[in-house]
Amino acid sequence: LPAAEVVALQHADVAGLLPVPGAESDKYRRGVVGVAAGSARYPGAALLAVAGALRGGAGAVRYVGTAAEEVVRRFPEALVTEGGPAGAGRVQAWVVGPGGGEGAERALAEALAADVPVLVDADGLTELARLGPGALAGRTAPTLLTPHTGEAARLLAGAENGGSAGGGGGGARPPAADELAAARLGTARRLAAAYRATVLLKGSTTVVADPGGAVRVNPTGTSWLATAGSGDVLAGLAGSLLAAGRSPLDAASVAAYLHGLAARHAAATPGAPVTALEVAAALSTAWNDVRS
Ligand code: AMP
Ligand code: MG
Repeated sequence: LPAAEVVALQHADVAGLLPVPGAESDKYRRGVVGVAAGSARYPGAALLAVAGALRGGAGAVRYVGTAAEEVVRRFPEALVTEGGPAGAGRVQAWVVGPGGGEGAERALAEALAADVPVLVDADGLTELARLGPGALAGRTAPTLLTPHTGEAARLLAGAENGGSAGGGGGGARPPAADELAAARLGTARRLAAAYRATVLLKGSTTVVADPGGAVRVNPTGTSWLATAGSGDVLAGLAGSLLAAGRSPLDAASVAAYLHGLAARHAAATPGAPVTALEVAAALSTAWNDVRS
């Protein structure tokens, strides 16, 4: 795919980016994705992120957080540890933030300290907006941000204020949600430049922008994806692709594409509502669809 233009994703592009384990592969070479998500208040986000992560091509999913018992009961495939990302063992990419609640601050700090790609979503983004782009300044491995429109507004405000953590006064007015929606492409680019991170801006049309200037637009979405928990599935899925060795731009592109297709496949009849867990379960059908 061309590096510095706006590209609408197509089946053939995505098919070429799906991870395929070689004959000599093993689960570590396929990649371990770490998921730091969920909290006492939002345990479900942990399950949904793990459900997505199990279907993105990584060889293993390692969950850390307060929902470890629920996660392993529902997904015996997952490796679980209580606590945070620090000292969690081998992980090739982290997903931080879905349903993270008060634990998000620590999880974000510990994941960003690791020298592996990190995907930041949801409560992790709220915390990152508070800290501002400086929180990513020391990183050598890439960062992928997956905001919806409201989270994007907070991130932009955090960039303009140089982070609000110092309590510094005044600063820019956060852009209104409808202003942002009208300029999704520009917003994704501005965020990518401000945070020097890849940005997957979710919404009616999902846009992926790389700090290098490449932009990809996903055509597969459906508004039935506007349902609680679907973003958590997407975060896990994209993180799994990162762990499997895809670049943030490719991981985000493939994840958005498969996620939209899965929502269509998950519907019992075309155009019927779907749940987030059904979208996760339909990911392997979406995968096959892309390859055929
Ligand atoms: P979140 O807001 O984190 O729960 O994520 C919601 C998911 O649904 C993202 O993948 C969005 O791209 C998708 N989504 C939300 N609203 C729409 C819409 N109107 N049309 C298509 N996809 C949407
Ligand atoms: Mg979300």
